[in-house]
Amino acid sequence: MLLTNLPKARLAHTPTPLEPMEALARLLDAKPRLFVKRDDCTGLYFGGNKARKLEYIMGRALSEKADVVIANGGVQSNFVRQTAAASAKLGFEFHGVVANPLSGTDYAASPVYNATGNYLLDGIAGAHMHQVDDDGPLTDAKVAELVSEMKAKGKTPFVAPFGASDGVGAMGYAECALELLAQFSEMEIRPSHIVLGTGSAGTHAGLLAGLRYAGSDITVLGVSVSEPADVKCERVRVIIEDMTPHWAGEVPVVSDDDIRVTDQYVGAGYAVPSDAGTAAIRTAAQTEGLALDPVYTGKVMAGFLDMVVHGELANGEDIVFLHTGGAPALFAYPEQFAIKEG
Ligand SMILES: *Cc1c(COP(=O)(O)O)cnc(C)c1O
Repeated sequence: MLLTNLPKARLAHTPTPLEPMEALARLLDAKPRLFVKRDDCTGLYFGGNKARKLEYIMGRALSEKADVVIANGGVQSNFVRQTAAASAKLGFEFHGVVANPLSGTDYAASPVYNATGNYLLDGIAGAHMHQVDDDGPLTDAKVAELVSEMKAKGKTPFVAPFGASDGVGAMGYAECALELLAQFSEMEIRPSHIVLGTGSAGTHAGLLAGLRYAGSDITVLGVSVSEPADVKCERVRVIIEDMTPHWAGEVPVVSDDDIRVTDQYVGAGYAVPSDAGTAAIRTAAQTEGLALDPVYTGKVMAGFLDMVVHGELANGEDIVFLHTGGAPALFAYPEQFAIKEG
């Protein structure tokens, strides 16, 4: 099935594996069969979901003949890390504008939080990094300043959409939907639900729209990692609308009630570890050998475990957890995982 004619850069290792989580299912005494889609294994500098979206975002940057890419996010942004690597690989100069999302907490001043994990990887990939004091006006001002500075030097800057989540980037997850449907039929899996994290929401939007494009009615259930559910649903809706001109075939219809997000597992806020998330990270590692992260997939797994245990996803035989990556951020939170010897 032809998805889109948008230009694409090859960056991700696909198809990623779809694997059963038998040990986890045994631990939970789960009725449904549980599977994990390994998008932590997309390659590109420690992997993660931004690789698929960046294939289309960087395809656009190439087609616009840009020579500089600018992206913004948190200090521990997986998006900035993978965009830095994609830029290096494709020959762009890269500038990352990052803010600490945890001002007001112990992490704000933590030298570990501000220097290791994703931030360390950004520098190794040759990124020019700019730390600013907030992710609002000061970030916008810094990005605008870099754009004018680059233009004054005769360069052509390209500002990547936040989280690579616009109608172009989301096409990477529509593609993942087709990839999953092929794996479901090959492996004889009939999922009722796919559970994933909803942040900047391009992953959710692309996956949902891609499934509907291909005629599948599998429920996509987003677990918010930051804002209230209604805000996330609106983000998903806007991105699906933004995808409209980019389909090769008939534009899929996605109704408002088809956009489903729970905000029960955010905890204290974006990037603040939750006890349930921390416990879920240990559970996933100790049953399936999966590396999750405190910002996204740990909280999503906390929701997944809770909903499986309470039979909330039981209207089908099989359930899929989309592993979107993020493990490099683990190293920014050493206090959370202090080792007890023995
Ligand atoms: C960015 C990210 C998400 C959320 O994806 P969005 O498309 O921004 O909603 C989930 N998990 C990880 C590890 C991420 O880096």
